[in-house]
Amino acid sequence: MNPKRLAILGSTGSIGTQTLDVVRQHPDRFEAFALTAHNSVGKLIEQARQFMPEVVVIANPAHYQELADALADLPIKVFAGEEALCDIVRMAEIDVVVTAMVGFSGLRPTISAIEARKTIALANKETLVVAGQLMTDLALKHRAAILPVDSEHSAIFQSLVGEDGNAIDKILLTSSGGPFRHFTSGQLLSVTCEQALRHPNWQMGAKITIDSATMMNKGFEVIEARWLFDVAPRQIEVYVHPESIVHSAVQFADGAVKAQLGVPDMRLPIQYALSYPQRLPLEGDRLDLFALGQLTFERPDLDRFPCLRLAYEALEKGGNMPCIVNAANEVANLAFRQGQITFPQIAEHIACAMQQVAFVPCPTLADLFTTDAEARQCPLPRS
Ligand code: MG
Repeated sequence: MNPKRLAILGSTGSIGTQTLDVVRQHPDRFEAFALTAHNSVGKLIEQARQFMPEVVVIANPAHYQELADALADLPIKVFAGEEALCDIVRMAEIDVVVTAMVGFSGLRPTISAIEARKTIALANKETLVVAGQLMTDLALKHRAAILPVDSEHSAIFQSLVGEDGNAIDKILLTSSGGPFRHFTSGQLLSVTCEQALRHPNWQMGAKITIDSATMMNKGFEVIEARWLFDVAPRQIEVYVHPESIVHSAVQFADGAVKAQLGVPDMRLPIQYALSYPQRLPLEGDRLDLFALGQLTFERPDLDRFPCLRLAYEALEKGGNMPCIVNAANEVANLAFRQGQITFPQIAEHIACAMQQVAFVPCPTLADLFTTDAEARQCPLPRS
């Protein structure tokens, strides 16, 4: 069997590097055919020399020369720019496109890959948040499979294997609760970016770690689950589960609940998306329920973590509302990391954008780009 050829978009980020870890463990199964990064040119050079892909792309063209010079002695094709990303994912040799880039920028290359009928290993959840209806319609039309890489959605997906035709009654979406689970509203006023970046269970990129602290990440995952598994928002229930062992669960018509459990390790959902329906060996820690002793669950507090409520509201409202939330969140998340706004102001800014930006009930792709640009113009709250 020939190895599956992967295009890893965002190969230098947290998911990207862990995907390459999986490739390293199974060189007979997977091949890194294309590697791309936005700005991390040094790391991309290092990865290219190690994995010898056919193609590398640096999205920011300012780094093109440095990349091309560093790889001049190797038979690796070097490209730059957003357009190149959309072009390379269409290459005939590629079997699977791993979408591990951050935010709205993932939209165009993912569309391009779906149109080229590639299997999508989806890590860029913002794509489904912004354009869930369009993306799922497009995937259906081109018969492109979208396999989840997000640990919760992978757990749901794994729980659904063998359940063809059995309707989902409810999805139990688990959340660690983030680093501020026990903080009072008063304490949340003065939390710092440094505190927010210390996630208790998962090592992730900066943007998603802040999204986890606000629980906007969980809100996005509710939206992602709605589109991946075709369920209504009210069928998705969030459970705060600080141990991050139950990665999510599905309840069926007879009351049976199936879950996937394991130690928090992103390489498992990444590998499963690549090897599905097969399971391959994976080195790493094993779950020890005796050592854990107990697993705990609590309801999320939507007053202290209003981002989760805003996500549910956006999903119920539909249209371009989730796109507005995503753009406002990208701006506010960055502003918080740069010390321009306080932690509670992230949610304030998003709520404000939801009021200000024009609502479009059935947006086209062009509408979504307009919405995204408009939402990014909303003025930040004063800190
Ligand atoms: Mg997740």
